[in-house]
Amino acid sequence: MYNIIDGKKLAGEMRSEIKTQALEFKSRFKREVGLAVVLAGDDAASQVYVKNKIKACEEVGIKSFAYYLPNDVSQNQIEDLIKEIVGDDNIDGVLVQLPLPPQIDAERVLKLIPSDKDVDGFSAENMGKLCIGEQCLVACTPHGVLKALEAYNVQIKGRKAVIVGRSNIVGKPLAMLLLNADATVTVCHSKTENLKDECINADILIAAVGKAKFITAEMVKPNAVVVDVGINRDENGKLCGDVDFESVKEKCSYITPVPGGIGPMTITMLMYNTVTAAFRRKNC
Ligand code: NDP
Repeated sequence: MYNIIDGKKLAGEMRSEIKTQALEFKSRFKREVGLAVVLAGDDAASQVYVKNKIKACEEVGIKSFAYYLPNDVSQNQIEDLIKEIVGDDNIDGVLVQLPLPPQIDAERVLKLIPSDKDVDGFSAENMGKLCIGEQCLVACTPHGVLKALEAYNVQIKGRKAVIVGRSNIVGKPLAMLLLNADATVTVCHSKTENLKDECINADILIAAVGKAKFITAEMVKPNAVVVDVGINRDENGKLCGDVDFESVKEKCSYITPVPGGIGPMTITMLMYNTVTAAFRRKNC
């Protein structure tokens, strides 16, 4: 009998704690925690993500500063804006929604965000600190995965975790988090030979591939914990993860659904990082 890891419920509980902290910040420092969100261009998915982030800010009492730039924004324009934002003392976190329009060198833009305001946790400094186990702002999706596992008391220490996907925003930071939590970690990718043989050994199997229903039942060890990070559309246009939920669930002890699993945790961890950044900037 499998158990559902209910990310939506967990995210709701965490958001009420974050709201309490945001209120405490406001009463101590006489201003709200501030998050700047920069969106360049008219990518439909990015617009939805930004809207959801702004809505989450309202829910937890974080003041959002939204900046919308046109599709044909120049490198200089976006860099000038970021320089202005990062210097604003009322802004504790800066988020640049990716992808940026093709004429923009995104790496140069992201490098302008100081690590103490890098609430996405993507900077080399934050990633490096995560690697060596120092305090840092951790990338939101991997952090959300860890919080979800911890909330359901999933044992990580000593267990074999297999991550399918090695992106800088999910797979790699998640590998570090799980390693820091004493798992034995394997990271798979598109060049991995015998992927099934790797996955079948996993006590904790995490899919971050970006391919609908990619993980099937024969890849899953009985009683494994399966975490699905993927957000895809199936052949009928319905939202689905990287895991073939219907066939896999019966083999699991715990499984995250899509939607309602890691997605809500990701935005919640952004709120968490922003409040954390605000307090750390005040040396608390
Ligand atoms: P990327 O496209 O950056 O990375 C995908 C990874 O999957 C790569 O490492 C790639 O390998 C690997 N991969 C692709 N095909 C195979 C294969 N056949 N066998 C094994 N590995 C393979 O994706 P992201 O990490 O950005 O995102 C992954 C998924 O998670 C997407 O569905 C995305 O939408 C979702 N996502 C969800 C979030 C949330 O809030 N829930 C947040 C961020 C992402 P290689 O490196 O060799 O190319």
